Amino acid sequence: MIGFELTPEQKALQEKARRFSKEVIQPVAAQHDRDGTFPVGVMRKAHQEGFLTPLVPKKYGGGGFGILDTCILSEELAAGCMGIYVSIFVSTLALYPIIKFGTEDQKERFLRTFCSTYRLASYCLSEFTVGSDPASMKTTAVLQGDHYLLNGTKMWITNGGYADFFLVFATTDPEKRHKGIISLIVPSNLEGVGHGEPIDKMGQRASNTTGVTFKNVNVPKENLLGGEGEGFKKAMVALDITRPMIGIGAVGLARTAMELATQYAKKRIQFGVPIAQHQSIQFMLADMAKDIEAARLLIWKAAWLADQGNRNSMEAAMAKAFAADTAMRVTMDAVQIYGGMGYTKWHPVEKLMRDAKVIQIYEGSAQIMRMVIARQMLQEMDDRSSLP
Ligand SMILES: Cc1cc2nc3c(=O)[nH]c(=O)nc-3n(C[C@H](O)[C@H](O)[C@H](O)COP(=O)(O)OP(=O)(O)OC[C@H]3O[C@@H](n4cnc5c(N)ncnc54)[C@H](O)[C@@H]3O)c2cc1C
Repeated sequence: MIGFELTPEQKALQEKARRFSKEVIQPVAAQHDRDGTFPVGVMRKAHQEGFLTPLVPKKYGGGGFGILDTCILSEELAAGCMGIYVSIFVSTLALYPIIKFGTEDQKERFLRTFCSTYRLASYCLSEFTVGSDPASMKTTAVLQGDHYLLNGTKMWITNGGYADFFLVFATTDPEKRHKGIISLIVPSNLEGVGHGEPIDKMGQRASNTTGVTFKNVNVPKENLLGGEGEGFKKAMVALDITRPMIGIGAVGLARTAMELATQYAKKRIQFGVPIAQHQSIQFMLADMAKDIEAARLLIWKAAWLADQGNRNSMEAAMAKAFAADTAMRVTMDAVQIYGGMGYTKWHPVEKLMRDAKVIQIYEGSAQIMRMVIARQMLQEMDDRSSLP
């Protein structure tokens, strides 16, 4: 059977993250959203608390937590500010493939240093012309003796202006599509590595998003993660783990919107009663609670499957898609419940609505998530040949 009771350790982790969110993230969230500035102070404190390295094994100085544990702590951080949470989370997206596929030397060089000293990492898959179809990437890596010569421009890179190293996906042969892709660990201080100005975004404005360029960068061969032709597989494995972690961010964000909308509905009087007493408002609040709970459970299941070492591509896609759509719906309804006030900068719900939108786009868009789900469903139907 299954249980939903958190262990004492998980409760402690949740409580620690909740306190951090309330005391460190929330007080500065509105300012970083307004100014579009990167919260360096918060990030340094997050590193001290171990929030940048929850999945890194204890052996290298990390938290040694599972994926479900990490989701539990992530919901609390995202409840404070999704943009700040994403800045914290993205390092895990870049570190996870090293944890999973790195050599002992790579783990010592990158994981240990990352845990002992404040460091940030970025995950570089997307390009200007390459989004949902990463197999068509243009960034090239050519093996020349003891190094790869890396050339190309990556786009939309979270933490791009602050990363100490990039996990870069590049092709050794564009003709081979996904089979030609490799992944390289690229320190940002190598000659030829550069980044653009922060992109002025609609939401999640505390997160730093830039283009990153690689011009004739000599990347030592020992920074190749796994073998040649295995980069695409590694990128997808990382996404199966990190999609639940982005999904749970959507849950944290939606939960905050629901709590704010509920408080407002209990205070705002129209037609002589708090608007919370009008049935149509109650139904919006009830739908929020129902969908947030469902999203959390989908995510916990996808995370639990991964912790058991099972494949979870379909469950991770279901969880991410449902949670992202939930966050969008919930935040739009929160604005609705606030009425005109919701449409202003006087209240935080408009920020939550802006922050929610991109969750339906990045880490696999709403459409791509449905493609992943449908592909597996159809495959399973093919396998069940005994059906009439
Ligand atoms: C704020 C932000 C941060 C990001 N951070 C990172 C990062 O750190 N690292 C990184 O590598 N990338 C990052 N990304 C990039 C992100 O992953 C891509 O934006 C995403 O994969 C979608 O790609 P695209 O924007 O090129 O859209 P496109 O792929 O051009 O898609 C456009 C539209 O077409 C739809 N579509 C595409 N193909 C199909 C299809 N076959 N069937 C149906 N519909 C389809 C999409 O769902 C979308 O609605 C970030 C993006 C943003 C906005």
